[in-house]
Amino acid sequence: MRLTDSLTALPGVGPKSAEKFLKLDLATVGDLLVYYPFRYEDFKSREVLELLDGEKAVVVGQVVTPANVQYYGYKRNRLTFKIKQGEVVVSVSFFNQPYLADKIVLGEQVAIWGKWDQKKAALTGMKVLAQAQDDMQPIYHVVQGVTQANLVKLVMAAFQAGYHQLLEENLPQVLIDKYRLLDRQSSVQAMHFPTDLAQYKQALRRVKFEELFYYQMRLQVMRKETKSADFGLVIDYQKDLIEECIGTLPFALTDAQRRSLNEILEDMRSPNHMNRLLQGDVGSGKTVVAALAMYAAVTAQFQAAIMVPTEILAEQHYENLVSLFPDQSIALLTGSMKAAEKRTALTAISSGQVDMIVGTHALIQEGVIYHRLGLVITDEQHRFGVNQRRQFREKGQQPDVLMMTATPIPRTLAITTYGEMDVSLIDQLPAGRKPIITRWVRHEQFDQVLSWIKSEVQKGAQVYVISPLIEASEALDLKNAIALAEEFQDYFAEVAKVDLLHGKMKSDEKEAIMQAFKDKETDILVSTTVIEVGVNIPNATIMLIMDADRFGLSQLHQLRGRVGRGDKQSYAILVANPKTDSGKQRMTIMTETTDGFVLAEEDLKMRGSGEIFGTRQSGIPEFQVADLVEDYPILEEARRVASQIVQETDWTKNPEWKIVADRLEKTDSFD
Ligand code: ADP
Ligand code: MG
Repeated sequence: MRLTDSLTALPGVGPKSAEKFLKLDLATVGDLLVYYPFRYEDFKSREVLELLDGEKAVVVGQVVTPANVQYYGYKRNRLTFKIKQGEVVVSVSFFNQPYLADKIVLGEQVAIWGKWDQKKAALTGMKVLAQAQDDMQPIYHVVQGVTQANLVKLVMAAFQAGYHQLLEENLPQVLIDKYRLLDRQSSVQAMHFPTDLAQYKQALRRVKFEELFYYQMRLQVMRKETKSADFGLVIDYQKDLIEECIGTLPFALTDAQRRSLNEILEDMRSPNHMNRLLQGDVGSGKTVVAALAMYAAVTAQFQAAIMVPTEILAEQHYENLVSLFPDQSIALLTGSMKAAEKRTALTAISSGQVDMIVGTHALIQEGVIYHRLGLVITDEQHRFGVNQRRQFREKGQQPDVLMMTATPIPRTLAITTYGEMDVSLIDQLPAGRKPIITRWVRHEQFDQVLSWIKSEVQKGAQVYVISPLIEASEALDLKNAIALAEEFQDYFAEVAKVDLLHGKMKSDEKEAIMQAFKDKETDILVSTTVIEVGVNIPNATIMLIMDADRFGLSQLHQLRGRVGRGDKQSYAILVANPKTDSGKQRMTIMTETTDGFVLAEEDLKMRGSGEIFGTRQSGIPEFQVADLVEDYPILEEARRVASQIVQETDWTKNPEWKIVADRLEKTDSFD
């Protein structure tokens, strides 16, 4: 018997059902043992007088008639008895569970999980519970084809076979003692089969600590390694050329841009390996800082590359660089380029003919070979996975790394999640920006909105219209966007030109549409959320978001950030009739602040860390049981211990930490 045994080693599991469990990433018995319920159904006893017809509930009462089993037909029978709850007498029946009769003792209290029939004042029992208050039903995450009952049965089988006895302790004894944690086997058992709530909470605390502790160990080890790496590049840029370039910009850099640029340049020149995050709210002007850093690398005969999440953005950055540095040779590389174009770009990159390279994740494909890659920049870094960022890094020989993000990471999370990075913050918008005026309107007011937009467009305004997001169906999203565009085309027939942009279009189509909008040939651009990140068209001053309550705060903030990028007054109009309280709350918060950090904190409070960054994309690992917000105190403690351990010289040789070193050895990455 081993923990790596396939699930088929358990009785009742054949290859067919094993395949179903694979959908839950459960391949081995070991996987199964640590597949914890995500919550427990709490069986609190209820008053029958308060129950609704058909409602399922736990009812506790005194047994007032003996249990009686009636048989009728093959294997069919009914167990009946009466209980009294206060003054109310309730008939109870169980079908085909005659053995329960043993548990029904005249005069004693009994707790029953069942379905209430209002008319008959009767309960159809499903389960007799040991003790009403403490009976807890585990709820596992399941997928189609796998039921709760399947999982419970399977976990039970694993325990019956004794697999849990193979689980080895994975926390150092010192820590178990220090924090009075349950040992591993007991905690795993109590996660699945707690005897009571108190024991479950004990187990949960241990499992959360385990998870957060190892997370922090990895961060701290990584941090130590990057800090001690003295083999970084020295990028000896020419300061005067950079200053000259800054002088030709149509604007003066803000103090915050200056400071961030200097921090980046300092890192580049030093032999230390740069690993820096450039954070700045939407519209704060990160792009020009990145461009200047790229230029700095070029003045030292290095190549610099910037990777962005969408083709639209890649093209925008490319144009931007071309206009900033008309004398440089710059390459664009995206997935949708024609083969011949791609070949030309690849040759130019590998031969060193080009110094600046812009692209999508096409930049990290296998066939892309760089000449002397000194600086890699990732824009909207949360859109990329940890692996993609690593692949990018590995395209050069210890290149300096800069990541950019407009998703403000709340300070509380920043220290813990970006523990291994240095951070530059652009905490200031360019001078002359007027705060965007945000209004929340209901669908009933939509006509007014349209006529207001009409008058604004006649004065020369350009408008983005974001079509509603329908989760789970790209096809529906598209249909919606098309219908919306048609509606606008009808309404604005004589006044304005309306165009449509969506993710299913070919990139040259998208580019042509964006270009027309930029050139003011189009007045109104209806779009799905493809427009969300990074797009920069300063003349667009109105952002209309349909069914805005379907979006999260961070996404709304990103969308809103597409306007207010010049010196004209801009507006964001959120059209929504939210059905939920949190939807209403989101709309209100949006009208109250334009500060991305405030919004991120609010988002975090409302949704928890799991969702704020979307999926695995964020590079912030998903935790199975821990929650970065709720369990912040545990996280902090874990961080403290982890950093203490790593600071010991040769900590891996200390027998006290052997367990930790071994385990990190086995699972060395976040993903
Ligand atoms: P983001 O930080 O959201 O990526 P961008 O880099 O796209 O923002 O900059 C937004 C707009 O602000 C662009 O049009 C850019 O040219 C302009 N901009 C950047 N820095 C300044 C500045 N110091 N003064 C005025 N405008 C600026
Ligand atoms: Mg940007």
